[in-house]
Amino acid sequence: MIKTDILIIGAGPTGLFTVFEAGLLKLRCHLIDALPQPGGQCSEIYPKKPIYDIPAYPEILAGDLTDKLMEQIKQFEPGFTLGERADTVEKQEDGTFVVTTNKGTKHQAPIVAIAGGLGSFEPRKPPIPNIANFEDRGVEYMIKEPELYRDKDVVIAGGGDSALDWSIFLTDVAKSVTLIHRRNEFRGALDSVDKVQELKNEGKINLITPAEVKGIVGEDKVEGVLVEQKEKEPFILKTDHFIPLFGLAPKLGPIANWGLEIEKNAIKVNNALDYQTNIPGIYAIGDVNTYPGKLKLILCGFHEATLMCQSAYQRIHPNKKYVMKYTTVGGVEGFDGTKKEAPKAVVKAIN
Ligand SMILES: Cc1cc2nc3c(=O)[nH]c(=O)nc-3n(C[C@H](O)[C@H](O)[C@H](O)COP(=O)(O)OP(=O)(O)OC[C@H]3O[C@@H](n4cnc5c(N)ncnc54)[C@H](O)[C@@H]3O)c2cc1C
Repeated sequence: MIKTDILIIGAGPTGLFTVFEAGLLKLRCHLIDALPQPGGQCSEIYPKKPIYDIPAYPEILAGDLTDKLMEQIKQFEPGFTLGERADTVEKQEDGTFVVTTNKGTKHQAPIVAIAGGLGSFEPRKPPIPNIANFEDRGVEYMIKEPELYRDKDVVIAGGGDSALDWSIFLTDVAKSVTLIHRRNEFRGALDSVDKVQELKNEGKINLITPAEVKGIVGEDKVEGVLVEQKEKEPFILKTDHFIPLFGLAPKLGPIANWGLEIEKNAIKVNNALDYQTNIPGIYAIGDVNTYPGKLKLILCGFHEATLMCQSAYQRIHPNKKYVMKYTTVGGVEGFDGTKKEAPKAVVKAIN
């Protein structure tokens, strides 16, 4: 039985940052993730995609953000159960929870923080009858290694951030980039929409809207796609790769049967207070939760993790009063006894 203070389900950015905030409060953490590596969506779906909205990083690759988070939490020596899915939860008489994985590993903690993101990753596939025949033969539903597309003709389909961001990124890598969307309007960030328009005007992106890819042609790999547009003749567009980026079908998996209040595949939490679910002691943070005004952003997961840890501390130590200190004043003390002092000038300025 692995015992800890906070058992975190999901080692995405939210789960990883929870370790840091908990560590400041001297609470130990253990993380379970179904994937073989930490980082959640950042490492599984888009490790090489730049992120532009992490404070103080004008631009950082998602994979590098994961590395930085791992470096930041190292001092608190978190435990990891990787490559195993949290399947069941049982409340014990002493109020703690025992979480068991699909491989039978048992974990016990007074606090469970579900940071399960979208759950298991299932890409939404377009309804093209023969698409399965071309999977990994030119059809990819997520981009893991942009170098695969170097000097290749690439067709991306989709209207969200992913389709826009990757189209922009691949203009520097691929021989040609075509973006196809069934509407004239895109759902992504306005900034990215403007950038795509700019690249189209410069002749670097071939934008076809409103249009849909209805078929794939090729012998044993993709050689072209069939493009259909209203009131126009369908045509075959030659390409080496077809990348439909229609998002992921969210699947909570076994957590959906834990007796938690669920709304639209997400766990309802009390956001006015501490991101606790309807089961006291079980919190849900990051992409996995829902509340009025919820935004599925890394930044929001970090914020929720911070507030959640304060509440967890009170549950674990109901009689202790915690006085919050800035890390620049108190330094950051790891479980290995190391104390990193803040630079003197900073301490002086704050005092
Ligand atoms: C293409 C793309 C681009 C994006 N760009 C940005 C951006 O620029 N800026 C931004 O802020 N956000 C962006 N996002 C969103 C961002 O990635 C998410 O908000 C963030 O990953 C959420 O972090 P999380 O830790 O809550 O969940 P996740 O990253 O989804 O991690 C959850 C983890 O939980 C694990 N898990 C789930 N259920 C179980 C279980 N039962 N047992 C064990 N493990 C489990 C999963 O395997 C996963 O590793 C983007 C998303 C995508 C797909």
